[in-house]
Amino acid sequence: MGEDAALDVRALTKTFGDRLAVNRVDLRVAQGSVYGLLGRNGAGKTTLLRMILGLLASDAGSVRVFGREAAAGDVVSRKAVAGFVEEPRFYPYLSAQRNLELLARLDGPAASVAPEAALELVELADRRRDKVSTFSTGMRQRLGLAAALLRSPRLLVLDEPTIGLDPANAAGVRALLRRLAGEGAAVLVSSHNMAEVAEICDRVLIIKEGSTVWEGTQSELHDAAPVPAWRVWTSDDARAIAAAQALSVRVEAGSRSTGGAPLVVQADDPQRDIFVLGLARAGVAVRRMEPDVPPLESLFTALTGAAPDTTESGVGAAGAEAAA
Ligand code: ATP
Repeated sequence: MGEDAALDVRALTKTFGDRLAVNRVDLRVAQGSVYGLLGRNGAGKTTLLRMILGLLASDAGSVRVFGREAAAGDVVSRKAVAGFVEEPRFYPYLSAQRNLELLARLDGPAASVAPEAALELVELADRRRDKVSTFSTGMRQRLGLAAALLRSPRLLVLDEPTIGLDPANAAGVRALLRRLAGEGAAVLVSSHNMAEVAEICDRVLIIKEGSTVWEGTQSELHDAAPVPAWRVWTSDDARAIAAAQALSVRVEAGSRSTGGAPLVVQADDPQRDIFVLGLARAGVAVRRMEPDVPPLESLFTALTGAAPDTTESGVGAAGAEAAA
């Protein structure tokens, strides 16, 4: 990635009292890419993003933005950088449009996107004259994104940008972030939502108790993840299990007491081919097959000891499967 990194963070560290909130974290975000920061509650994501945005002084380490060292308090004032951490705040008694106009005025020449256009991008154009006090949490969240887009940032830093959004709006924001990256922006997002990270991020950093436990691309992630498990529905489970055992494929029966439970097969792609072809030879039909746990989730669980919270995201098992 080297010299053209939009953001280059080295050994960034922050301690609160005797709590090491962020411990020597390195990350590099290339232009034209989306980078995901994934961790459980209290892992240090917001603290890291606050330091990157210059809202919090670090104890040690460096933040370079487009090749230039950025001091605390300096980063967000930079022309090409925008973002938000935690819930974006607005004047509740003013309209969405008026709030953005005031922010654009504060930004001065850095604001290169008209408030109307920014509202259009986050699908709030039809509500632009409404007071922000009448907005739902998800609408305020999207207004926060519109505010960040006013300056057409080349580096966009967003803390949980889809939290509180319904699935359709969350999908709209994900598509927008991918589009901005496609147009050359560098996007850094934190998330609890593994399906979201798997869907939009080129690289992923998993943080646990302030330290990096894994960093890499999506394809490296697939290689690093434990052997995937698959749920398999067959025409004859007993013969399928016998066939799997003969082929040395790891298979577990579902709960027979409830009936209709799928088999769970642990197999990488070549083993899965062997299993499916073996079933065909044994005269057993595969009626349905789906990933049991997506790779990012299984890696996250292996590294952090628990699945991240996906409840706030509105994306449940179906979303996770879709992303696998
Ligand atoms: P969440 O997903 O819940 O938002 P997070 O990964 O963003 O969590 P942080 O908010 O960065 O986590 O918090 C990391 C650790 O630092 C936590 O233990 C938190 O209690 C602590 N911490 C954060 N800000 C402060 C502060 N201002 N003073 C003291 N401790 C803090």
